[in-house]
Amino acid sequence: MNLLVRNATFPDGRTHQDVRVVAGRIEAIGPNLPAPDGAPVIDAQGQLLSPPFVDPHFHMDATLSYGLPRVNQSGTLLEGIALWGELKPLLTQEALVERALQYCDWAVAKGLLAIRTHVDVCDDRLLAVEALLHVKERVKAYLDLQLVAFPQDGLLRSPTALANLKRSLDLGVDVIGGIPHFERTSEHGAESVKVLCELAAERGLRVDMHCDESDDPLSRHIETLAFHTHRLGLHGRVTGSHLTSMHSMDNYYVSKLLPLMREAQVHAVANPLINITLQGRHDTYPKRRGMTRVPELMAAGINVAFGHDCVMDPWYSLGSGDMLEVAHMGLHVAQMTSQAQMRACFDAVTVNGARVMGLADHGLEVGRAADFVLLQARDPVEAIRLRATRLQVVRRGQVVAQSAPSSAALSLPGRPSGVDWTFRR
Ligand SMILES: [Zn+2]
Repeated sequence: MNLLVRNATFPDGRTHQDVRVVAGRIEAIGPNLPAPDGAPVIDAQGQLLSPPFVDPHFHMDATLSYGLPRVNQSGTLLEGIALWGELKPLLTQEALVERALQYCDWAVAKGLLAIRTHVDVCDDRLLAVEALLHVKERVKAYLDLQLVAFPQDGLLRSPTALANLKRSLDLGVDVIGGIPHFERTSEHGAESVKVLCELAAERGLRVDMHCDESDDPLSRHIETLAFHTHRLGLHGRVTGSHLTSMHSMDNYYVSKLLPLMREAQVHAVANPLINITLQGRHDTYPKRRGMTRVPELMAAGINVAFGHDCVMDPWYSLGSGDMLEVAHMGLHVAQMTSQAQMRACFDAVTVNGARVMGLADHGLEVGRAADFVLLQARDPVEAIRLRATRLQVVRRGQVVAQSAPSSAALSLPGRPSGVDWTFRR
């Protein structure tokens, strides 16, 4: 598809930029470019044109199942896992596919065009694996779906998990997952990390583990993950997701840990909406926030992205696939309030997530895929502040979703009537 976007502002601050798209790829970027012959033109009117949002941590096999078979009463991670265990035997492939496709529709409408989803491999039927492989194929024209083989019940704790995980990889699942803090002992946790990293090295795959999703400051599997990443030469291909125990760790220990993560080029994914909801549940007051140390990780040169993790499932009853909501929460929980830090939170739901997923085609650069989102905002900070409307969502040069600009019609006593378009000054 050919297209010209005129007069856009980029997240890096460049203004008056045109983007010329030929055959679904960005052919040129700069001021005053001619449109390809007969191609449609989108007038951005100076608004923000961003690479698509990326969610590097999600659970699409559980999404939109809120209330099935009951709701999570305590709101804790562990009741969520137990509830998921009750739901699993009741799942059908049709229902899984239907819910996942519906979520993908929501995602596209919100400009979210790449999702890494964990898929539970502890059901011997591998129902969810087959369903999501089917969905991946169904949505590939408009959304990049990457699957992680996730042994939810523990790689060593669940007797068939390792065999099921290998079967899932054979079927085409992309990434190796894990959950070391959920094994029976920390020794088993460390062993699971070793086994899974060796499997990744053997098969040439990426790794993304739920790692230290706990308030226990002694949950230190990220250290083991960084060690095996370095030992096996998996640099840049391994992600530690959640890392919430780091919130509670000893500061001296963290000062040694971060350089090890940096050395191994381990990516970190925080899930602000879920971390702030699920962690700290055993605390009275003061109550810990339980999100990992995002600004400190970034300052140490570690790639940090934000994930949504859950939408309307056993762990979380809210959400709509809006990565600006995720960035908004992340910014608050991490107290990342300087201009540079707020912009870094925008990167955490766009380019940083693309690095986690290894999406070489993502980004507003010549030669890359023509995938982008036109936002009703002038810059990334305003986009986060307003959870800006996605005016146009473009995939391979083709508009795949549009939303009307948000506005409010005002009729106030003593004030001139009119329309407040944008909550801008
Ligand atoms: Zn998760």
